[in-house]
Amino acid sequence: MQVLHGIQVSPGVAMGRVLVFHSEDFFSVGEIKIREEDIPREIARFEESLTKTRAELLSIRRKISDEIGHEHSDIFNAHLLILEDRTLIEDVIQKVKQDKVAVESAFAAVIQRYFHAFLQIDDEYLKERVSDIKDIGRRILKNLMGHEKDILSELKEPVIIIAHDLSPSDTASMDKKNVIAFATDIGGPTSHTAIMARSLEIPAIVGLDRITKEVVNGDLVIIDGNKGDVIIDPDLTTMDQFAKEEKRFIELISELDKLKTLPAETKDGHRVHLTANIEFPDEVPSVLAHGADGIGLYRTEYFYLNRTDLPGEEEQFEAYKTVAEKMSPQPVIIRTLDLGGDKFLSSIELPHEMNPFLGWRAIRFCLTHVNIFKVQLRAILRASAHGKLKVMFPLISSLGEFERAKQIFEEAQEELRKEGIPFDENVPLGAMIEIPSAALISDILAKVCNFFSIGSNDLIQYALAVDRGNEKIAYLYEPTHPAILKLIFQVITSAKKENAWVGLCGEMGSDPVLALLLVGLGIDGISTSAFVLPKVKKAIRSVFYTDIKVIAEKALTFSTGGEIRKFIEEEFKKIAPEILEG
Ligand code: PEP
Ligand code: MG
Repeated sequence: MQVLHGIQVSPGVAMGRVLVFHSEDFFSVGEIKIREEDIPREIARFEESLTKTRAELLSIRRKISDEIGHEHSDIFNAHLLILEDRTLIEDVIQKVKQDKVAVESAFAAVIQRYFHAFLQIDDEYLKERVSDIKDIGRRILKNLMGHEKDILSELKEPVIIIAHDLSPSDTASMDKKNVIAFATDIGGPTSHTAIMARSLEIPAIVGLDRITKEVVNGDLVIIDGNKGDVIIDPDLTTMDQFAKEEKRFIELISELDKLKTLPAETKDGHRVHLTANIEFPDEVPSVLAHGADGIGLYRTEYFYLNRTDLPGEEEQFEAYKTVAEKMSPQPVIIRTLDLGGDKFLSSIELPHEMNPFLGWRAIRFCLTHVNIFKVQLRAILRASAHGKLKVMFPLISSLGEFERAKQIFEEAQEELRKEGIPFDENVPLGAMIEIPSAALISDILAKVCNFFSIGSNDLIQYALAVDRGNEKIAYLYEPTHPAILKLIFQVITSAKKENAWVGLCGEMGSDPVLALLLVGLGIDGISTSAFVLPKVKKAIRSVFYTDIKVIAEKALTFSTGGEIRKFIEEEFKKIAPEILEG
């Protein structure tokens, strides 16, 4: 038996057999161990991928030669030569056999060694071949991985997925019935993969560093998402404890579910708007089952992932309409396409960026792709005739961006009016406050926005310069950092001055202690994974608003995140000890 500890990102416990998923990222495949008897299968997979890649290259070469000219297709001759390089092929097969690693791991290691060797050579022509090696490497790896993606979506039995990393699109393609938990080597607490795990209501742990090196397909493991532990090959006593822990967790959940029909209201009647975050329309039943007051964040970009075309107006309209109708009369806040950062579309080829989180993403992308943006806005507006919809724009950094987005929204309204298509004329427009610049000009933005939604996941990342997906610096990702509380308080104050509604839709709201701090600071709404809403509701219903207001204001006077966390925990413990239990 062996225990590894990581960052718990989604609660619950699960025991099951491992399925190792090989990451699609060329540079982060990691060393995936295999059993001796799997070696022939891995070599066969390698040969299949080489044959497939060769067929693809020949077809592209023919197409380019026919359409653009023979001389432009020569580049693919170089690719074909690399593909047939016996030394490279032998090196990969040798590594699979010797190190007992999956072919992806062997191939990624060998190809990286090749291009590093080429880079050292003092010859411009050979240096340029590095990009050919990279290109062909990616293509072969993609063919190996395509196979993996199918595995994730077509599982035959319940499994625990173990991966070096999982992209949001990998997670979105998972067969939700049969993935009972997952654990990864890398990843931070508010990465989109972690958020997806909470939406799927499955236990998950990230940042385990070397889980992929410690297990192979078929191993038995326990994932304890409450503590952040992965137990490999558990003994009988541990299995027994697991069964008890599972029972306790189920009891706790059903206890909390009793709060479903009760309002999220403090003991002295201060009402908080407690809503859920979703990525897919099929999460609506879970939102309703957990007693949410609506949907506070619908991450529509998931619609665009895992497909090779863009979703059209009609298709989007149907999805938004379904959500609006099912949630009616409760409100649904639809966030417009938040592409980029760690979410990429297969349908649009975007230039490689050094810093994707600081790059051409979210509203920045939409404002330069007005055609794509308009299609979505028209679909949302049309759906607004079927329920109570609000719209918010992600990653607003300046007044100009919000105004331009609003202008395009109004153009979409005008088009629909002319076409005689019905929509709600009073759809409120909001800005997500997730960049420090937006928080600092929230007084200006509050004059033009109907509401704010604080995206604390990104706000913390940008204000503290901490990559939200990097487990190495997860200790610096501090929601109680005084700078964060000051920014949040400033946004709340600006909104109140202009009578604008202000909510928070980041993961910060899923921690009952932090949720109370936010309510004490004056937030109107909290939106988080449906799964954790009852726990937050229980905390809100256990306290007096007058008490938490005083505590929150005092919290603003401390100097460090640690002091603030300690202070609020101690104070909340005095007034409602049950908040810190379980
Ligand atoms: C956020 O940044 O807090 C947020 C809610 O948006 P996302 O997590 O999708 O970036
Ligand atoms: Mg965000």
